[in-house]
Amino acid sequence: MPRDPYEVLGVGRDASEQQIKKAFRGLARELHPDVNAHDPDAEKKFKEAAEAYEILSDDERRATFDRYGHDGLRSGGYAPNFDGFGSINDLFNAFFGGAARSGPAQGGDIGVAVEIELIEAANGVKVHVSYDAVTRCGRCHGNGAEPGTPIETCDRCGGAGQLQSATRTPFGQMMRTVVCDACHGDGRVPSEPCGECRGRGRLAALKELDVDIPAGIDDGQRIRLTGHGHEGESGAAPGDLYVIVGVREDERFVREGETLITALDVSAPLAALGATLEVPTLEGTASIELAAGTQPGEVLSVKGAGMPSLRRGRHGDLRVVVNVIVPRRLTAEQRELLEQLNDSLSDENLRSQESMFAKLKRALGSQAA
Ligand SMILES: [Zn+2]
Ligand SMILES: [Zn+2]
Repeated sequence: MPRDPYEVLGVGRDASEQQIKKAFRGLARELHPDVNAHDPDAEKKFKEAAEAYEILSDDERRATFDRYGHDGLRSGGYAPNFDGFGSINDLFNAFFGGAARSGPAQGGDIGVAVEIELIEAANGVKVHVSYDAVTRCGRCHGNGAEPGTPIETCDRCGGAGQLQSATRTPFGQMMRTVVCDACHGDGRVPSEPCGECRGRGRLAALKELDVDIPAGIDDGQRIRLTGHGHEGESGAAPGDLYVIVGVREDERFVREGETLITALDVSAPLAALGATLEVPTLEGTASIELAAGTQPGEVLSVKGAGMPSLRRGRHGDLRVVVNVIVPRRLTAEQRELLEQLNDSLSDENLRSQESMFAKLKRALGSQAA
């Protein structure tokens, strides 16, 4: 029984057409023979992914599968028809426009994820990344020939680098110009293939790189490093590397763009009296003046103690939300003091300059400013 196509592509049952296409492209790239020469199952896996894509990219087939599963598709007369493809390269070309491609293929892009601390996001940081990439073979310098042996005109395409080929696709038979599979578009082949890369000129290898993450980067942002992706075929540009930056949460702060927000616990008597207090900042602490009569939810600012802006380098502010704690579990003595205090309070002590609603509006508005 074939596997569930959603499972094969690693998408949810409610995946959009775009997500399905993207998932299939990602898988196909992984299973491409240039990347996956060492995996004997690559072709089988590609066929499985292609079949899953063929089902899910067609509304009618997808609906049939959703309702009746593979049995429903089979009894409806559907059968995957990939056995006519000669090689994984043909199959790949059928899906990714081999016909439009007349020259050597550009290298694919690569994504790597890194995770940094909030303080590193504030200051900028250098991170070391390592990733698998198709690279130029060091032994033959990419020309595929055993060093010291000649390179000859390709017999298969007569040096043109292209072939006319009839290909069966899910959409019927198509004549197409494809890149010559003997010389991969070069028009020339080594008389003796390089012993290291078996004539491909390229190898999968572990690449390492130090990447500068700029100050001000936000969670989920990507840094593009042009030319650090997979090596292209001879004469074509390499792909790009995308470093996807995750910023770990710091439990002391909430980040909103360049603004950091923290909460400061203050006892009710102290809020009434006022005080100079320390608040945490990214770098250490800062003092703030708590005015006498500070109310719950009031927001104080420490200028420039937020995150830097990615473009301008200017820092945002740290906003301190005052969390007034009403004392609990009073002793008899404390209770007596508070009773005395409460008895002494007049309207003058309790009159509010601002409604709770106005205060909320101000707190939210000040964060956006
Ligand atoms: Zn080589
Ligand atoms: Zn050729």
